[in-house]
Order: sequence, then C-alpha cells, then structure tokens
Amino acid sequence: MIALVFMVRFESKGSENAEEKGMAKSVLICDDAAFMRMMIRDILTKNGFVVAAEAENGVKAIEKYQETHPDLVLMDITMPEMDGIQALKEIRKLNANAQVVMCSAMGQQAMVIESIQAGARDFIVKPFQADRVIDAVRKALE
Ligand SMILES: [Mg+2]
Repeated sequence: MIALVFMVRFESKGSENAEEKGMAKSVLICDDAAFMRMMIRDILTKNGFVVAAEAENGVKAIEKYQETHPDLVLMDITMPEMDGIQALKEIRKLNANAQVVMCSAMGQQAMVIESIQAGARDFIVKPFQADRVIDAVRKALE
C-alpha cells in the first residue's frame, strides 16, 4: 500500500528528469586521469546520466564492465596496465553489443581507426566539449 502511494506520487510529479523516471542510462568512465574522470562525470550527471563506475586503466575497465553492465562505456585510449583499445576488444568479446565511445587525444587518428574497426561506436577528442560528449553518448545509445 505504501509502495502504491509512492508510485502515484512519483507519476504525478510529471518530471522531465529521466533519472527520476528510472530510465537514466548508465555510463562507465575509463580514464587514467582523475581530473578527466571528474570532468566527464560532471558533464554526464548534469545531463541526466548515471555513472555506473570509474576505471583508471583497461584492466579495471573490464572488471567494472562485468560488475556493473553499463549501457555505455567512455574509454580513454592511453592508459597504463592495459590501453583502451585492448580493453575495448576484451569488452566486445564479453558482449558483442557493448556500446563503447573512445576518448582520444590529438594525433591518435590511427588508434581511433583501429578502435572503430574493433567495434567502437564513436570517438570524442580531447579537450572535451560538453555538447560533443553528450551528442556522442546519446547517439551511441540510440
Ligand atoms: Mg590517458
């Protein structure tokens, strides 16, 4: 009964916020730079996405992917332990439908091409523009 009242209230709010409606998509953020993860987290949460987890290298990225089953992965290319391309390949082995968007730096065109060939949906280039990040995330989730 309490749950029912709760649901009615929830519905009647008419919120535009996807997270409140339980529809928020989750994103796994992979980057070895803490400030970069913080920046991406900020952009995502301000736009109604949920951060599933953060990973600072490719090995952690795979672990967190298996733990949290995110809707999308944002994957830095250059990371210690295991780079983003290798982690992308491993994640696509675990789930052939995994949605991964690569985060590259200037001058990494060859690695971006390799990533796309390995199944990455898109890429964003650092320094990030919030609009471009959200655009790529939304398109990859369509
Ligand atoms: Mg890096």
